[in-house]
Amino acid sequence: MPETCDICNTPDSMSPLLETSLLGITTAWVHQCKSCGFRQIRPRLDRETLSLIYPGDYFHSERDFGYRDFSRQAQRSLRIAYFLSRKMQRPLPPKARLLEIGCALGFLLHALEKYTSWRVQGLDVSPFASYFAGKMYGVPVECGTLEEARFPDRHFDFIIQKDLLEHVTHPREHMMESNRILKSGGYLWLITPNGEANIRPLQHAARKIRDAGMDALPLLGQGHLSFFSRNHLMRLFSETGFDCISMRNISIRRGLRALGYLPRGNRSFSTICRKDISLPAKANKGAVKEDGFEKLYEQIARDIKRRYSPIRSRPFYFHQRRLLQSIGRLPGWATIGLDFECLLRKR
Ligand SMILES: [Zn+2]
Repeated sequence: MPETCDICNTPDSMSPLLETSLLGITTAWVHQCKSCGFRQIRPRLDRETLSLIYPGDYFHSERDFGYRDFSRQAQRSLRIAYFLSRKMQRPLPPKARLLEIGCALGFLLHALEKYTSWRVQGLDVSPFASYFAGKMYGVPVECGTLEEARFPDRHFDFIIQKDLLEHVTHPREHMMESNRILKSGGYLWLITPNGEANIRPLQHAARKIRDAGMDALPLLGQGHLSFFSRNHLMRLFSETGFDCISMRNISIRRGLRALGYLPRGNRSFSTICRKDISLPAKANKGAVKEDGFEKLYEQIARDIKRRYSPIRSRPFYFHQRRLLQSIGRLPGWATIGLDFECLLRKR
């Protein structure tokens, strides 16, 4: 069976565009579809490489790669939950069943429990995530991928996928599976990067490397595997059974910078020496196994407590921040932001 493009379904249409270093762990080629222009890492990553990218402790602040300083997100999740619950409380039933896919440590789910009576649950590939969310917040988080979880048909009223679609190996299958487990008329709230804003700094770095004759590769530092344009997303949503209710461009300033439209723009790229790549041993070094979960839990719980600010947990602060952020939000067609924020409804 030939591999097809996730957007336009054309078989064998992906051709190599750009070689990168995926988190300094392995080399990976960005490919581009000759038919629709969609860009994606090919060949798709296997289970083993994925587990190197997302080891149990990718929340560990002392690791070289991964999500540093995760505790900062705890406070921010309160604000996101406040506005999301206000937006979704009317269309959803009071006891709505909510699933967050890629919920990490459960901050957003816990915050949503505070503002709603929804029945929340999470899913994450990190075994530490489910340990942490259960112990800290009593939020049920299953460990695994969406495909592994095998939820029943039409089970959920609402699904959240924040910064997830760009990390899954099969985006089309992933969207179809999300559709299957949603009730008819159910909602999916999704945030995913503007692919062009991810690719342009890599291309810029590749040119610099070539000009300087360096033996290096542009660093794909966040481990994104797919790079969607607005049109790609719209087509994917529509063909996997969703209506797009709203789409907005967010983080405009960072988007403009990444796209090179601001002075000192996409110069903020990173490169990595070829000799530092292909070091699975390094990726695994210090990875926390189950017997180390307690120590990491204590460390993150301490960080969260230390960072907690009562002022920044109040609605008046949320509204003030939102007002400031409104300058950084545009309709989806603008395509100059760093991320797309989309609300979809199952047809
Ligand atoms: Zn295509």
